[in-house]
Amino acid sequence: MSPINLSKWARLKSPWVLHFNSGACNACDIEVVALLTPRYDVERFGILLKGTPRHADILIATGPVTRQAALRLKRIYELMPEPKFVMAVGACASSGAPFKKCYNVLGGIDKVIPVDVYVPGCPPKPEAIIYGVTKLFEKIKGGS
Ligand code: SF4
Repeated sequence: MSPINLSKWARLKSPWVLHFNSGACNACDIEVVALLTPRYDVERFGILLKGTPRHADILIATGPVTRQAALRLKRIYELMPEPKFVMAVGACASSGAPFKKCYNVLGGIDKVIPVDVYVPGCPPKPEAIIYGVTKLFEKIKGGS
């Protein structure tokens, strides 16, 4: 197996994720945390929550991007090693939803960093987030 295929295989078998809330009401975050509980148990797919962007393959971002969080979100993304992927979880992360015209909100996650997969819902159920992860896997499989 070539080194590129080996790293892709490893990423698909055990993607490490980082979760960042850029202004969510916390409901989306609770659904993300539910993924890690024994009920949904995403660790069976090798998905591990990491505490640092330097070890993460996938950034799971929730909430609209507030002006206060924008620079932090950008810096976290920049600290992740290549190749890196971003999932926008929830309506706010996808578009800013009801907060997009607020004076202190820039909009969805893609106003600051590129997004690979959008998971709609307010908040999306854990099953929807798992479906989003499978869509991301398809994208990772297709790339190098
Ligand atoms: S999408 Fe809904 S649940 Fe998620 S942060 Fe926005 S308002 Fe809260």
